[in-house]
Amino acid sequence: MYPLKGVVQHYSWGGYRYIPGFLGIPNEVKEKPFAEYWLGAHPAFPSQLEEGTSLDEFIQQHKEALGKEVSSRFSSLPFLFKVLDVWQMLSIQVHPSKEAAERGYAEENAAGIPLNAPNRNYKDENHKPELMVALDDFWLLHGFKPEDQLEKVLQRVPELAPLLPLFREGGYRALYQKVMNLKQEETDRMLQPLAARVLPLYEKNKLSKEEENFWAARAIMNFCGLGQFDRGIFSVYFFNLLHLKKGEGIFQPEGLPHAYLEGQNIEIMANSDNVLRGGLTEKHIDISELMKHVKFEATHPQVIQNKSSETHKSFTPPVAEFELHQYDWKKGGPQTITTHSAEIWLLLQGRIKVQAGDMEQAVTRGGSLFVTAGAALTIQVLEDALLFRAAVPSGEKN
Ligand SMILES: [Zn+2]
Repeated sequence: MYPLKGVVQHYSWGGYRYIPGFLGIPNEVKEKPFAEYWLGAHPAFPSQLEEGTSLDEFIQQHKEALGKEVSSRFSSLPFLFKVLDVWQMLSIQVHPSKEAAERGYAEENAAGIPLNAPNRNYKDENHKPELMVALDDFWLLHGFKPEDQLEKVLQRVPELAPLLPLFREGGYRALYQKVMNLKQEETDRMLQPLAARVLPLYEKNKLSKEEENFWAARAIMNFCGLGQFDRGIFSVYFFNLLHLKKGEGIFQPEGLPHAYLEGQNIEIMANSDNVLRGGLTEKHIDISELMKHVKFEATHPQVIQNKSSETHKSFTPPVAEFELHQYDWKKGGPQTITTHSAEIWLLLQGRIKVQAGDMEQAVTRGGSLFVTAGAALTIQVLEDALLFRAAVPSGEKN
């Protein structure tokens, strides 16, 4: 096991307190937003081992650290593990399948679009399934609402009512196609009266986070300068609006459109940066490419419930790259864990002492470890602890 240091991403949508808080970095003057804390071997932003070696390089030199099974299937650590503090809503996005990413990456290479070009869609050849666990109240958009619910919204919101016949006739695809391809003037004409209705309510604190109008109003405030309306606002009404409570999780497979709205979470994903965006962003949007990847179907959200009586919770989505374990330990111990793959641990609360053979490592809040495959660990819990363990599932499952 090795103490590990992650990388902070200061994206503009990040909060100012949460990540500096658990990392013990002073940020009182709010000079910088702290959006994400990355733990992993992503070549662009690899975590560092103590002596300054990047985790990426370390793994390339010590493939055995991954574990036999993992190193036969993947060339490096296949997952990326993050903490997010979402203060301003993120873009609406969808991630491609593995095959689509391989094809898109090759096509963009052949077309000579540089990897760092702003109009580049595919940054690598990988898919990016994602699992998130809420660290506190968390709001997100997650897939299209089931038909009956979407019909009700289109009936209830007067500005969207003209879209109802189209949805009844042509379903999700026709509806989404229509709004994503509206001319800017038409978009503005539809959304202007909606803005005039919801903004005063938002400003008077009359809207609740449980209703779409709240997030539409916030999106209008954030993304619609100069009277131009972002077409992502339609999606706020079309998608499931979810409020996850602390400890609840959700999985986002390929093709499922989503957007994080507010809160802190743990996120684990395949090691990729392939994102196709559908609004609420200033970044590149390629609508025809986006339409190829969105699955036009109802999503019945499968929230992974939190049973607070459990001290160990496993999140095991149907992917080969990652699984996540959460431990709520009371002071005491010892606890024991044996690793079957390389793992990354992150302690978000408390204090522990980890022993492996004759090595001993103290971990405090915000601390993390890279643990190699085949390690037998004994853990003393010195203060009530909240530990997340990211691992690669055993191949038999897939
Ligand atoms: Zn995503």
